[in-house]
Amino acid sequence: MGQVKLNVQLLESTTDAISVIYAACRQCYSQQFAGDIFNNNISLADKTAFVRKVVASGHDSPLEHVKFTFAVEGVSRALTHQLVRHRMASYSQQSQRYVQESNFEYIVPPSIETDSELKAEFIQTMRDIQLSYNKLLSRFKQKGKTGEQANQDARFVLPQAAETKIVLTMNCRELLHFFKHRCCIRAQWEIRALANQMLAMAQEKLPCIFKNAGAKCEELKYCPEGEKFSCGKYPLRGK
Ligand SMILES: Cc1cc2nc3c(=O)[nH]c(=O)nc-3n(C[C@H](O)[C@H](O)[C@H](O)COP(=O)(O)OP(=O)(O)OC[C@H]3O[C@@H](n4cnc5c(N)ncnc54)[C@H](O)[C@@H]3O)c2cc1C
Repeated sequence: MGQVKLNVQLLESTTDAISVIYAACRQCYSQQFAGDIFNNNISLADKTAFVRKVVASGHDSPLEHVKFTFAVEGVSRALTHQLVRHRMASYSQQSQRYVQESNFEYIVPPSIETDSELKAEFIQTMRDIQLSYNKLLSRFKQKGKTGEQANQDARFVLPQAAETKIVLTMNCRELLHFFKHRCCIRAQWEIRALANQMLAMAQEKLPCIFKNAGAKCEELKYCPEGEKFSCGKYPLRGK
């Protein structure tokens, strides 16, 4: 049992992403078959320039054919509850039913990490929860429940701070949308940290699409969040 930190890995992304987006864009305006367009010998630079132009025009559906798969660990269940609200994505999350939490790890928010009194209180609460969880497990086992049956009910006492692992796949269109919302200063700190790491990986892999991605203001060049929430990077709307 103990404290853990965010770890994000890009497992895989579409090979030859630019050619896939190019073929999909071109298919919309061409008599040619996308299969032939994909295999032609147009240079990568020309394909990239075309893709940039089409995407800038708001023709976003070709971006849906290219996907990124990330493995994430060292995040709280509070984070993944927010993450899975993004419906245009696929998820596979570590189960608290099949994986016993008899030694659970947890995330400590920075506001607690930096306050020794609060941190001591927090860690004691985690220990108390662990004891309670383990007690429930052993009682359920005495009553003849299987491991899976015991886990599925004992987990009800686990906190939102409990560490979890998740694999997620998003296409480029959804990633751009996700970054707009979750890289913003208004997003909760933990999901923002995840989004920023995912953004850096996407930018490295596919700069043509993600170079200017990020919080909504990066595209708008103003802050739509209002005075109360603005981080000050861009002027407020209309100012
Ligand atoms: C700062 C912040 C605060 C938040 N606070 C709360 C809160 O207090 N309570 C709460 O419940 N949620 C809250 N949310 C979550 C938010 O309401 C969304 O559920 C979440 O951001 C997922 O985004 P999305 O709906 O765009 O889903 P995505 O799956 O990312 O959808 C992508 C886009 O597809 C389209 N789409 C998807 N499904 C549908 C559909 N069924 N009908 C029509 N269009 C669809 C929409 O255009 C949508 O924007 C908050 C989010 C943020 C960023």
